[in-house]
Amino acid sequence: MALQQQERTVTVRRCTSYDAALVKEAVIQLGEDTAGSWANIIPRGAKVLLKPNLLTPATAEQCVSPHPTVVRALVELCRDAGAASITIGDSPGFGTAQKVAAKCGILEAARELGVAVVDFADSVTVPAPAGFHNRSFSIARDIVEADVVINLAKFKTHAMMVMTLAVKNMFGSFAGRQKAQWHLQSGRSQDHFARMLVELAYTVRPAISVLDAVVGMEGNGPNSGNPRKLGFLAASRDMVSLDRVACAIAGVAPDTVYIFKAARDLGLAVDLEGIGLLGDPIEPLIITDLKPAALIHVEGPAYFRPFAGLLRRLLTAWPAVDASRCKGCGICSEACPASAITQPAPGACVRIDDERCIRCYCCQELCPEGAIAPRDAWLLRTLKKLKSS
Ligand code: SF4
Ligand code: SF4
Repeated sequence: MALQQQERTVTVRRCTSYDAALVKEAVIQLGEDTAGSWANIIPRGAKVLLKPNLLTPATAEQCVSPHPTVVRALVELCRDAGAASITIGDSPGFGTAQKVAAKCGILEAARELGVAVVDFADSVTVPAPAGFHNRSFSIARDIVEADVVINLAKFKTHAMMVMTLAVKNMFGSFAGRQKAQWHLQSGRSQDHFARMLVELAYTVRPAISVLDAVVGMEGNGPNSGNPRKLGFLAASRDMVSLDRVACAIAGVAPDTVYIFKAARDLGLAVDLEGIGLLGDPIEPLIITDLKPAALIHVEGPAYFRPFAGLLRRLLTAWPAVDASRCKGCGICSEACPASAITQPAPGACVRIDDERCIRCYCCQELCPEGAIAPRDAWLLRTLKKLKSS
């Protein structure tokens, strides 16, 4: 897939807090840097669909969803540009879009602005661009029928994909159970899943992607990690370029991020050198100590590769349940696409069957108690102990 060089620009604007005036100013600048103005992105009379990352019900301070002030700024700017209608929509992993939006404050902002929050329900089959492995995708009708899609991602670590940024946020373009089916289809292959994510994102191809990294999430992301102040908002017409710049700022090695390998295989450029940077200099924002969600990437010399499967089994992490935190709600077993989670009795702590587990981490993503976290495999734990002794 060929991209115009103009699309491969990323704008980064420093934003030190969610103060409404600061956020609005930064978001105005993101539009100006990207296209001259938001009016050049949102044609007058357009039907706009704003797709924030609405994963599970959590407060704004927990940093699971983009902050409501960013949503508010985007809606106001779409309105100023002359949008005929604006809708906020997503397909959360658990609960409805309205419930997730209510908990984090997006629903209140939407109500004040007179904008509806919708749950993606029915889908439309859309052909994928030539050269993709998938010929078509069944995408939420609200997305397909919009004139302009705005992808609003949150900066978070991710147990399965290492990071969730602009590309991964478009996974919510699938309505309902389709997400679980795609996990099952990809099995334990992060590469397969990443390729599907990239193909889906570039089939939808939002007009612009915006990343809320004022305060992101590190550690047990994307649902139960810790807030991490990063101090910026960023935007681009190209999702892979945006994700690549975010990883450069966060000190995340690109060869550990499955999405970049998939993007490269599909002919999308991922090298930092080819990306035009606009806005504020990124150097003062760079960090080197972001806590990852889990180690699931195994690198090594070429002669290691035939044993990659075994090494991954022994040297990486697997989901584990913390019985002291589990409330037995059953959300994880309901969501598990591999039926790997059992509950001995209603309300009891759940168990994970490692043989069946495909390490999609849907359980970890959705557990409201943060009771599931990646746990280092036996050999990795032993090596770490030896190293520290
Ligand atoms: S692990 Fe979490 S989601 Fe699963 S039953 Fe326990 S509390 Fe609920
Ligand atoms: S147990 Fe968790 S990580 Fe394993 S397949 Fe089920 S949802 Fe995915």
